[in-house]
Parts: sequence; C-alpha cells; structure tokens
Amino acid sequence: MSLPSSIDVPTLVRIKPGALDRLGLYVHRPGFRAPALLISAGMVPELIDRGRRSLVEHDVTPVTEVPVTDASLEVATDAFVALPARCDAVIGLGGGKALDTAKYVAFLARKPYFAVPTSLSNDGFSSPGASLTVAGRRRSLPSRLPYGVVVDTAVCRSAPLPLWHSGVGDLVAKITAVHDWKLAFHATGTPVNDLAALLSDATVMQFTAAPTRDPEGIRLLATALLLNGIAMEICGSSRPASGSEHLISHALDELVPGRYLHGLQVGVATYVVSRLQGQGTQRIAGVLDRAGFWDTVRADPFDRATWLAAVARAPELKTDFHTVLSEGERVDEVAAMLAEDPVLDGCFRG
Ligand SMILES: [Zn+2]
Repeated sequence: MSLPSSIDVPTLVRIKPGALDRLGLYVHRPGFRAPALLISAGMVPELIDRGRRSLVEHDVTPVTEVPVTDASLEVATDAFVALPARCDAVIGLGGGKALDTAKYVAFLARKPYFAVPTSLSNDGFSSPGASLTVAGRRRSLPSRLPYGVVVDTAVCRSAPLPLWHSGVGDLVAKITAVHDWKLAFHATGTPVNDLAALLSDATVMQFTAAPTRDPEGIRLLATALLLNGIAMEICGSSRPASGSEHLISHALDELVPGRYLHGLQVGVATYVVSRLQGQGTQRIAGVLDRAGFWDTVRADPFDRATWLAAVARAPELKTDFHTVLSEGERVDEVAAMLAEDPVLDGCFRG
C-alpha cells in the first residue's frame, strides 16, 4: 500500500432525479465544450437521447461517440489514440463497462472524467481503479476518481431489479472488507487508515436506515458507493471496499466468467465470510433481507461445487493480502454453512 501525497476527489456531485437532463449544464458550467462520449452499447436509446439533448442545449458538442461492448485495456487504448486533439473531457454514460473504459481513457488522456451511471450495480462509478480485462484477464488498473459524478436517481430506479441488488451486495461488502483490513493489521502489520475505515463503515450505516428501492434508498446507495470510492482514495488502497468477499467473487469470475452479477456474488460471499469472521452477520443479513436481495439470488442459484472451488482458490489470488480466508482451511466450514444455514436456503443448487 502506498500513501498518495494528495488526494483527488470529485468536484461536482449531483445525485437527484432528472440529473441526466441537466448533464449539459454540469459539463458546460466548469467550461467544457468538447467531450468524448463513451456509451454502453445496447443502452436504452431514450436515455442516450436525453443525455445528448441536454449537451446540445448547453452548447456542448461531443467530439466523438464510442459505443462500448467490452471493458478491456485494448478497447480503452484504441479509444484514447483516436481521441481528437480538441477533446477537453470524457463522459461515461451507462453501465459498468462503459464507465470503466471511459474512466481509463480519461486517465490516459489526462482529461477530466464525468461518470454518469444509469444503474448502481457496483461501486465502480466512483472508485479510483478501472476494472478492465488485459489480454482476457480481469484487472483493476490504477486510475483516477471522476471529476464529476452525475447520478439520475429516477433513471437508476428504473434499472432492472437485479442491478439494484448487486449494488446493495457490493455495499454490505464494506463491513467484511474493513474487518479483514483490521485482521491484516494484527496478523501482518498492514497499516489501517482509520478515517478511511470509519468513512467506509459510516456509509453502510447510513444506507441501513433505508435499504429500500425508493428515491431515498437510491440516493443513499449512490452516496454510500460514492463515499466508498473516496475512502479508497484517502488510503491509496482498495482495502476499505474489498476483502475476502471480493476474493471469492474474483475466483468465481475466473471459474465462470460473466455468469453472475458482481454484487450478487459479493453480497452472498459477504454474508458467508461474516460468519467466518464472527462479526456483522446479523447486520448484513438484515440489510440484504430488507432490500429483497435473497429473492434475486434464489431466482438463479449458484452452483454449490463451483462456489466451494472459488472459496478454495480465493486466498491465492492476491499476495500480501491477509484476510479471514488466510487463517486456516475454510472450505469444509463453508460447505457446512451452505448446507445448513437457513438464510442461504435456496441460494445454491447441486
Ligand atoms: Zn465490488
């Protein structure tokens, strides 16, 4: 872990209904007129039109429009090379792939980046890293937080329900991630940044007050995920957002790439590792319950054997990264949990 000499946090943050229709204003006001627009391929055309219309109304003319199907380093570098010289900012509009690609293009081009997510399925819209594949393997590449974060809560509310549950799963993960961080401090001396840990914990606390898919719940989830990105930036590490539950998710990504939403993998893993950690379990189960998370998981259960293989593989994925999974053989314990815990009933098949 390295400590940054200065931190770079978003200057402009708008989290409210109708924000998409004001995008042009938000881009125009600080002086940008010629952004590159990277858009999720296959996105609802009406949303793209609303974004475009708002830009045009405020005298902002995109210099290029790139549809993104694949979040890869190769696609990002191609888009960077093709950027017209007069490009003065980069806007990512849509889902995770477009946003991660746009974030990295902006980072390569040293241009301000505007993140405009249309769903809140994970914390990537405001994290300092860009999740891209490199030669086919998923990596988190060092990047920068956005200059602007524009979340239209009404648009995010109309996104498919599993995406909302994925975002909730990625948020509760912060409880086990922070605990793993503290275990790592005691086991190997990994330094803990108290403010980042506190901020990460506080964001989950806030969301716990209203984990429902209504305007207030959407606003709280967006704010919480955003502030987690700031927590990562403060300490120069992903520790406040990502621990053993993310290792299991990464292992699943290797075993069954693209099969499940990130936050659904992470949310279930969070519950499981909280039991291994012996902390936070009730709190996590409570939030996931009230959000209706388990129904989405049960609608498309995980394969038990694959999941246990992921638990076995998880601790090997990162060197120098102590978590509760580093503390002894856990697979048998987890197998028993999957078989017996009533909370997980129906979440696994096979
Ligand atoms: Zn995550």
